[in-house]
Amino acid sequence: MVSPGELRLIDTLTEKDAFEPEIADNGAVSYPDVTRLLDDADGDPVDVLDRFAARGVLASEFVSKVYVCPECTTEGLQYTTVCPACESEHAIETTVLEHVCGYAGPEAEFDAEDGFRCPDCEMDLQTEDVDETERYVCNECPEVFAVPEDRLWCRSCFAMVPPLEATERALYQYTLTPNGKQWVDRQKAALRTVTEALQERRFETEIDATVTDETESRSVHVLAEDGLMGDQRIVSIHETPDAESVEEFCAFAHSIDAHPVVVTTSGTVEGEVAARAEGSELTVLAFKGSETLDTAYDTVESAGSQQGLFQRLSAALDVPVGKR
Ligand SMILES: [Zn+2]
Ligand SMILES: [Zn+2]
Ligand SMILES: [Zn+2]
Repeated sequence: MVSPGELRLIDTLTEKDAFEPEIADNGAVSYPDVTRLLDDADGDPVDVLDRFAARGVLASEFVSKVYVCPECTTEGLQYTTVCPACESEHAIETTVLEHVCGYAGPEAEFDAEDGFRCPDCEMDLQTEDVDETERYVCNECPEVFAVPEDRLWCRSCFAMVPPLEATERALYQYTLTPNGKQWVDRQKAALRTVTEALQERRFETEIDATVTDETESRSVHVLAEDGLMGDQRIVSIHETPDAESVEEFCAFAHSIDAHPVVVTTSGTVEGEVAARAEGSELTVLAFKGSETLDTAYDTVESAGSQQGLFQRLSAALDVPVGKR
């Protein structure tokens, strides 16, 4: 099923390019726009995005990786290098001279007031007696070395961690696919059509309404009220209504004394849903495109075991208006 929050979410992408990732204060990847658009009942926003990506409604595109401090979850660690012996950062790349006598030290040590001289054997330096290399010289311990160790440091808590110990987060943005656009257009067309049909029957309608019973508030696709007759209906739009979500929807409708209406946008429902609609406690309508609703629909064993969404969608779109 598509919840009102999910439909709100996907519909937003018909106007907006993408849902962009951010790193939240707790170091997790978050999508603030998505969190705002969804209802609490929709669950984890990242799970919702991934579910729609798996269905082909959304495309997830890799943006970048960021590294988060494993100590305090701050994003954006800085690169530095340290001495492999004492871990001090104060190890600086320096020109090191190695004298023929075996002594090696930073260039500055050889710089005597009256010329260049080995501080160890005190010989005046001759070019051919000296090897010059770039080395790291630690200022906190005697270590001299060619390659320092890599570290990332946190500007917030000053933790210093080996790069592989930083927490890696891959960031993805989500866009609407052409198929997703077709899908959301169909859900909205169904929503519009059922709303107009209710208005023609003198119902006052509210799309994406919040309805409250004794225990909870929830969003419904359409709330329709006939004040004169004291008649209230709530509408749920589904691709293929499944037994579980329809049962839950009917229970909620019952708790607010409203009649449940389920619209299938694929033209099919699960067998148990069809059986339930045989009685008077549930109305099932099939949206068959072209602004028409039909009381005829097909049944399938299970909504989940059907062919892929778009095969179903195209199959549904191929059904001529009014045909069973
Ligand atoms: Zn050191
Ligand atoms: Zn020397
Ligand atoms: Zn930190």
